[in-house]
Amino acid sequence: MPSFVQQLEERVLAGGEVSVDEATRLLEDDSIALDELLAAADRVRRRFLGDEVHLCSIVNAKSGRCSEDCGFCAQSARFQTGVDEYGLIDADAAEQAAGRAAANGAEALGLVAAWRGLKPGKELDRVCEAIERVSAGGAVHADASLGLIDDPDVARRLKQAGLHTYNHNLETARSHFGQVVDSHSWEDRVRTLELVREAGMHVCSGGIVGMGETRRQRAELAAELRELDPDMVPLNFLNPIEGTPLGAEHAPMSPDEALRCIAVFRLMLPKHHIMVAGGREVVLGEQQDRMYAAGASATMVGDYLTTGGRAASDDLAAIAAAGYTARSRPLGAGETRALDPSPRPRRVRGEGADA
Ligand code: SF4
Repeated sequence: MPSFVQQLEERVLAGGEVSVDEATRLLEDDSIALDELLAAADRVRRRFLGDEVHLCSIVNAKSGRCSEDCGFCAQSARFQTGVDEYGLIDADAAEQAAGRAAANGAEALGLVAAWRGLKPGKELDRVCEAIERVSAGGAVHADASLGLIDDPDVARRLKQAGLHTYNHNLETARSHFGQVVDSHSWEDRVRTLELVREAGMHVCSGGIVGMGETRRQRAELAAELRELDPDMVPLNFLNPIEGTPLGAEHAPMSPDEALRCIAVFRLMLPKHHIMVAGGREVVLGEQQDRMYAAGASATMVGDYLTTGGRAASDDLAAIAAAGYTARSRPLGAGETRALDPSPRPRRVRGEGADA
């Protein structure tokens, strides 16, 4: 009689899905051996995505003084975190960051700004200038995470400037979102992703686990992301930051719990790239390199927004040592890097889009 994990693996390899109930059992039941779960996740990942690991970098393009109240974030003006505060970097600084990202082996540089979102005007013009510079350089994709978008013209301007992928995370399950953020809604986030997709950009969306959500809510988030169908799914672990509400309430989760979570996301999202990013050093510690065997197919190299990451050379060495291939190669003359040539065509589904 095949075990529960074997049954789920066979179903996923045959094109079937893992339900929220089944994923919750995998997350809750410690009698299900972690090694068996990781091995199943690795086989699923190799079947659908091969052994490649995508690498991305980010630069904090505008730091601090954000009007929003995301309870995990050091950059909210509502919390005392001592984070650096500065206005939007210029196109020269963005170009230099792109050079550093390419030198680290990254395929993409994400420009990340701490604010509620962009409106037409001078700030959008400056952002587009930076995107144009990074995109024209050709060493990396120009990606960005610029907050909520509620104006289709803003999304179209970003696309015209050469933006490849827009990141906007769901952050947590819809049923838990109100425990983490008050100043905007989960539906606002879904609407942003809908506009990004309609403008023709790739969609990057995931979340953070370890923010007081239940195991079932982790499974719900994975199912909601499956419905959303983004091109990339960042899976972050809460790195509790002093001065933030969640920093005071929650300790980092254990390495085993984090690895179990990656593996369950892999089984629920078998064909999606899963990027294990923020918090991995703090949460996984010496077990960090097992994240690839758990199903991670992408990671972030270099520093995060307000916390340092480990050296890119260590990440590249670890990927090779674990038997995976970093997706990074020198560019030929006139060549630009490409993930997938075109974004997924599906509409984002959520309250706004389904109405
Ligand atoms: S996560 Fe983004 S929107 Fe929320 S407080 Fe931080 S910078 Fe602002």
